[in-house]
Amino acid sequence: MRERCGRRPTDMAEKIKAVVVGAAGRMGGRIIHVIQEAPSIGLFRAVERSDHPAIGWDIGEIIGLGKLGISLEGSLKKPGGDVVIDFTNPQASMETLAFAKESGLAAVIGTTGFKPEQIERMRELSKGIRCVFSPNMSVGVNLMFKVVQDIARVLGSEYDIEILEAHHRMKKDSPSGTAVKLGELIAKAMGRDFGQVGVYGRKGLVGERTKEEIGMQVIRAGDIVGEHTVFFGGIGERLEIIHRAHSRDNFARGAVKAALWVVNQPNGLYDMQDVLGLKP
Ligand code: NAD
Repeated sequence: MRERCGRRPTDMAEKIKAVVVGAAGRMGGRIIHVIQEAPSIGLFRAVERSDHPAIGWDIGEIIGLGKLGISLEGSLKKPGGDVVIDFTNPQASMETLAFAKESGLAAVIGTTGFKPEQIERMRELSKGIRCVFSPNMSVGVNLMFKVVQDIARVLGSEYDIEILEAHHRMKKDSPSGTAVKLGELIAKAMGRDFGQVGVYGRKGLVGERTKEEIGMQVIRAGDIVGEHTVFFGGIGERLEIIHRAHSRDNFARGAVKAALWVVNQPNGLYDMQDVLGLKP
C-alpha cells in the first residue's frame, strides 16, 4: 500500500524491490531506465540468460545509465525482492513464473508468443502467485482493447473487420500478441470464435470475403516500434482505430505501473485492464 498512502520512499529499504529478467534486452533496458526515475520502486537485481556475454558487468553501464552498483547475473535462483519483471521469451518466462511461485515474488510478464498450453500452465501457477500478464502493457493499447469491442458491437456484421499490425524487423513472433488479442476480443464481442473466423493474409483466388471473417495482416520493417490498426469497413465509409507506439517507453512505463499495482493484490492472473481499472 506504499503508493496509495502517498508516501515517497527515499532509500532502497523502503522501495519495492524489482528483479528485472532479460535486463540487457531492448525492453529490459528501458524498464530499468523507468525504474531509476520512479520514487517508489528500485532495481534490486538484473538477470540475463546464463551465456549472455555481459554477465558480471554493471547493468547501468550496459544500458547507458552509468554505474549502478548492480551486476548482471546469469541465474534467477537467489532469494530476495518483491516483484519480478520479465520480458524475455516464452520458455524463460515460464521458468521465471515457477521461480516466483517458489520464492513468493509477484510477477509481471510482458513476453509474447506463448503457446496455449503455456498460458494454461500460467493460469495454474497463478493460483499461487500475484501475476500480471499482458502482451501489450501500453495504456493506449489497453484502452483500444476496450473501445474496439464497443465499436464492433454497435456497427455489427455489416462492417468488415480487418486488423493490420507493423513491427520492427527483429520481431520473432507473428502476428503480434496484441493483434491476436484484438482479434479475440472483437470476435468475442461479435459472438464469434477467432480460432474459426481469423484469416491470416490472403493470396491467390481466395474468393469473396465472408461477413464473419476477421482478417489479419502483418508488416515487418526497419525499426517500427509497434503499430496496430483495426479497420471497420462499411459501404460508403470506414472507421479506423490506430495505435502507434513512438518508443518502447510506453510499454516500460506500463510494466512498472503493473509492478507497483500487483504487489498489493491477492494471488491471481491479471492483465493491464485490471491494472488500469478498465474492467466493468
Ligand atoms: P530482446 O531480445 O531485446 O530481449 C530479450 C532478452 O531476454 C535478451 O537480452 C535475452 O538475452 C534475454 N533472455 C533470453 N533467455 C533468457 C533467460 N533464460 N533468462 C534471462 N534472460 C533471458 O527482446 P525485447 O524486444 O526486449 O522483447 C522481449 C519480449 O517482450 C518479446 O516477447 C516481445 O515480444 C515482448 N514485448 C512485449 C511488450 C509488452 O508490452 N508486453 C512490449 C515489447 C516487447
